Formats: sequence, structure tokens, C-alpha cells
Amino acid sequence: MSFESLGLQAELLRAVADAGYDQPTPVQRLAIPPILAGRDMLAGAQTGTGKTAGFTLPLLQRLAAGRPAGARAVRALVLTPTRELAAQVQDSVVTYGRHLSMKSLALFGGVSINPQITALRRGVDILVATPGRLLDHAQQGSVDLSQVEILVLDEADRMLDMGFIRDIRRVLKLLPAKRQNLLFSATFSPDIRALADGLLHDPERIDVAPRNTAAELIDQKVHPVDRARKRELLSWLIGSGDWRQVLVFTRTKHGANRLAEQLERDGLSAAAIHGNKSQGARTRALADFKAGKVRVLVATDIAARGLDIDQLPHVVNYELPQVPEDYVHRIGRTGRAGREGQAVSLVCIDEHDLLRGIEKLLGRKLPSETLAGFEPDPRVRAEPIENGRRARGGKPPRGGAGQPRPARPRAGEGGRPGQRGGQASRSRRRAGARA
Ligand code: AMP
Repeated sequence: MSFESLGLQAELLRAVADAGYDQPTPVQRLAIPPILAGRDMLAGAQTGTGKTAGFTLPLLQRLAAGRPAGARAVRALVLTPTRELAAQVQDSVVTYGRHLSMKSLALFGGVSINPQITALRRGVDILVATPGRLLDHAQQGSVDLSQVEILVLDEADRMLDMGFIRDIRRVLKLLPAKRQNLLFSATFSPDIRALADGLLHDPERIDVAPRNTAAELIDQKVHPVDRARKRELLSWLIGSGDWRQVLVFTRTKHGANRLAEQLERDGLSAAAIHGNKSQGARTRALADFKAGKVRVLVATDIAARGLDIDQLPHVVNYELPQVPEDYVHRIGRTGRAGREGQAVSLVCIDEHDLLRGIEKLLGRKLPSETLAGFEPDPRVRAEPIENGRRARGGKPPRGGAGQPRPARPRAGEGGRPGQRGGQASRSRRRAGARA
């Protein structure tokens, strides 16, 4: 099947050809025709499936077809959970819209608001925004959403996870009642279904999220190891395999920082990327990683979400995620676009339940390989894990969100876990208020 057969206009077909795409991906095949026809949509698709083009291409065509005379107005609004995703979606709008004269803007927090106000005044057709900063503009009167014809909620599950539901509802009140609504989400919790029920009218439902089949092309492996020796094993894997570009996941921001510092000490160029870093620092770290200046990028789930880093040869779960679906998101960073990738998980005794949860979701056991010299010590006992993320719909763990809190401080780990948890908990609330 070709892009031509989906009903896209010549300017968009040219942009797609410029981008080097031969064929539409499954989500594009399923999403583009109904969106072009003006239908609402409930789409199960995660990053890496080509979903951004799946909604951006038809959105551009609908806007181009129905362009009213007179001043520019915001006619399409895309809400995203993170700044990175907002920037990336807007990049895609520019890429796919390059042969149409359409103006787009990304609005997100963490950067000065004034240039955004100036850009809004000049006129914007397509706005890509995180909910918090968008509401800041709405309060100041610097954005008018009364002409929005198409609303996209991108990574809706993640927006709810990050506590944006009230902000989303406030944004919805600023939109005209008659509009086209598209909701993209990798997972469908009862909260997402409730949101979709209230938002979508007779939606076309599509689902390409490989929730149970974590991309066939990805070679997945578990290496059992003691928690105290994970860093050593990681450095060894990177060095002995001569891995040049590795994305490493930790559960917490603090853990990401600490690991990046330790890897630097091991002589591996590393950078951490997470929500407490300034926008500039995150952009720089990502650019350095893409350019090959930084060999190891250490990220938390939320920071990594939506990052457009493709076809990575290696993804490492330094710590398993608390939510099994996040495992699928993480490893989706590798083996994209038909290339093989490798995802390895360093699993200590504390994480056996998490591993079982992931295997249950995948519907199979992951191959496990104990590496010589890193055999787990059978005398080590499991310790409880606490996590930075709230359980879905539940209360935050006692002592605040943020850190895997060891029952007792372990040698070399800096102690004072309670204090770290408190800090992370505050920043988490901030992150929930504003992306
Ligand atoms: P997304 O799921 O939207 O984050 O897209 C993942 C990656 O796939 C992006 O880097 C796109 O540039 C790329 N992509 C999107 N559509 C296609 C296509 N039809 N063929 C090849 N690559 C694509």
C-alpha cells in the first residue's frame, strides 16, 4: 500500500517522499483515511509506530482544505505530556507541512513565556502544547482557542499519569463544542476510557500498540546480577561489546544522575536526562547523544517518553520499571524501522516481582543469561523497592515519591534516603502542575 492510496494531497506526498518514507506504517494506513473524512478517533499506538505522521498528515490536509479568509487563528491544537514531545511533534508538523503555508508553534514551560506571546501574536494555525503552559497563556489572554477545529491528545495515558486530567478538562472548556477529536494512547486504563467517552463522538477505533508482542525484532535478554554490581556490569557490557550509543533507563531522577556520574568516572561519556534538568540541559544532552559525543544517555521513563531517538542499537534497563507497560515503551527505542536492536535488563533479587509482571504482560518468559564473574551472591536478600511514580490511581508511597528506598542505607549509596524522597516528591508535584 502506498501513501497515494490514502487520499493525501500532492504537497503532503512530496513531504513524505522528502522524508524518505516508502510506505505508510500500520497506524498511518489505519488512521489517515478516517481522519481525512473528519471522524473522531481513539487510537492505540505508541511512540515509534509512526503515529505522529498518522495524525499530522491528515490534520494538515484538513486545515489546508478549509482555510478561512482573514487573519490566522489557531485551528488545530495538539496536547502532549512533555516539552520534548511538544517540540518533536511541532518538528513533524514543520517537516510534513513544508510545502503548505501553515504556521505552527510549540508551547511548553521551562522557557521564557514572552517569545511565545510574540509568536502567538504573529498568528499560528497549529499549536502543539503542554497543558500547563497553554493554560498560562489562556489566563494571560495571549492565546485564543475559540477557532479550534481539530484537537489531538497525544500520549493521553501519559498525560493522565502525570496528573494533567484537570488541566485537560480546563483546556477543553476553552474550545468550541463542534470539533474533530483524536485521542492517541499506548494503553487504555479506565481513566482513559472515561476521558475518551466524554470527548469523542462515534470514534473510529484503531489499535496498533504492540502491547503483548514487544517488537519481534528486539533481542531481549535478562542478566541476573546483584544490585551492588549493576554499574560494574553495565560498564563491562558497554566496554566489552564496544557499544557506541546506549540508552539506559533508571527508575528515578536521582538514580539517573548518580549513574551518569559513575559512568563518567569509569571513563564512559554519559549524560542524564530527566524532568529536573533545564530545557537547555536536556536539549544539549540529547543533541550530544545523537551526535555521538555522549555514548551513554541515562534517562527516566517520563523524560524519555516521546524522545525522537530512533534505531538505537542498545537499550539497557538498569532498573526495571514499576509499570510493566513502561518496559515495552523503553525497549521500543531499539529495533525500529526494521533494524535489529538489543534490549538487556539488569535484574537484581529485589526486582523478581517486577520481572514476573513484565513477563506476564509479554505472555512469555524473557531469556536469562548469567554472566561469568557477575553471578548473583545467593546470600543477598531482597529489599523493598519504592518508586518515583504513583501507582495508577493510587496514593503515593509513604515517605514521598522519588527513590527506591533501601531498608537501610547501603555502602557507597550516600545514605539519607528519606530526605532524597522528600525532594523528589516536591519536584514531582511541580512536574504534575506544569510540564
Ligand atoms: P513516531 O511513532 O511518530 O514517534 O515516529 C517514529 C519514527 O518513525 C519517526 O522518526 C518518523 O520519522 C519515522 N516514520 C514515520 N513514518 C514513517 C514511514 N512511513 N516510514 C519510515 N519511517 C517513518
